[in-house]
Amino acid sequence: MTIDPHDLMEMEDRLGAHNYHPLEVVLVRGEGVHVWDADGNRYLDCLSAYSAVNQGHCHPKIREAMIEQSAKLTLTSRAFHNDQLALFYEDIARLTGSHKILPMNTGAEAVESAVKAVRKWGYEVKGVPKGQAEIIVCRNNFHGRTMGIVGFSTDPDARGGFGPFAPGFRVVPFGDLAAFAAAINESTVGFLVEPIQGEAGVIIPPEGYFKGVRELCTEHNVTLILDEIQTGLGRTGKLLAEEHEGIEADVTLVGKALSGGFYPVSAVLSNSEVLGVLQPGQHGSTFGGNPLACAVARAALKALVEEGLIENAEKMGARFMEGLRSIRSNLVTEVRGRGLMLAVDLDPAAGGARPYCLKLKDKGILAKDTHTDTIRIAPPLVITEDQVDWAVERFAEVLSEGA
Ligand SMILES: *Cc1c(COP(=O)(O)O)cnc(C)c1O
Repeated sequence: MTIDPHDLMEMEDRLGAHNYHPLEVVLVRGEGVHVWDADGNRYLDCLSAYSAVNQGHCHPKIREAMIEQSAKLTLTSRAFHNDQLALFYEDIARLTGSHKILPMNTGAEAVESAVKAVRKWGYEVKGVPKGQAEIIVCRNNFHGRTMGIVGFSTDPDARGGFGPFAPGFRVVPFGDLAAFAAAINESTVGFLVEPIQGEAGVIIPPEGYFKGVRELCTEHNVTLILDEIQTGLGRTGKLLAEEHEGIEADVTLVGKALSGGFYPVSAVLSNSEVLGVLQPGQHGSTFGGNPLACAVARAALKALVEEGLIENAEKMGARFMEGLRSIRSNLVTEVRGRGLMLAVDLDPAAGGARPYCLKLKDKGILAKDTHTDTIRIAPPLVITEDQVDWAVERFAEVLSEGA
């Protein structure tokens, strides 16, 4: 017996915490760039679960790895070795050039883990006085939802009512090199920053910003921590978004697409010095580095590389952006993006992006409004030229209808 989708939405509303406001569609199946609702309506997914399904929904090779591993061994805890963890380390180290890896589960856990390791590094290696370590973060950052992280958020929704918060963070405007330079002092141990601010509305920093950041971090012995949980793993047309800037982070955080959306898998990637401060018993996770996660992550990374998804993101992203920019509409104030991480800003007089996302839904596109006036567009990286062109036509219909 299948339950009516309206009843399912009513049950969610009645029984669940209301910490989300989903579009009114109940999805039952996904394949590649598409998802289907219970009535068989097909949608092109332009959110990709916030870039967790870069490889496309239900990728057959990742699914195969998951099914195969789940019949062998799923969880041992790190009290024992398992035969998948070393192979995962080797794959991700080879791909990213990292020397040390710390496996976790969610993105927020990777961020928390990096904060812990970098603080400890600050005391033990850099020589910061006990309890004084400071980490610089950016205004309008998004790094997750745990207590530590929302404490240094600047979004009133994300932090309001959740205090008291942990000290030790200093906030600077994103993209402002002088402000970053001015915030560094002897107690600064790290700079935690997104290469492109995703949740803030796909905000791309000025040319040369990260080159300057890199130089200042090196000069002042500050650990540069790039949160690539959303920008990483092909989304921007490069394996890591740092490649666009011609720099290398000291610590890189990945998550989301690390599992292709099958399972929460995240990791802290670093040089040996920072993760080297963690000794047995000082950090851990029951599920972190479990054999199922490792097998899934290996298959997810393999799919990205072997299927040319990173190059495809670059090509299709350029095509999508060109298409969006060619739309004649007095509603659109800006189209921007890098690879398949795109955003369309609407004139504030248009009445917000959500009504346009609802119209897109009726035309078979699922996209998410962010920050009131922005439509974010981030389809799975397996998208084809025809699918991009089809999507651009739907955007053109919706955005010129409003004109
Ligand atoms: C999604 C996201 C996170 C948090 O990941 P979760 O798996 O939801 O905890 C952290 N940083 C960035 C940039 C993200 O996009």
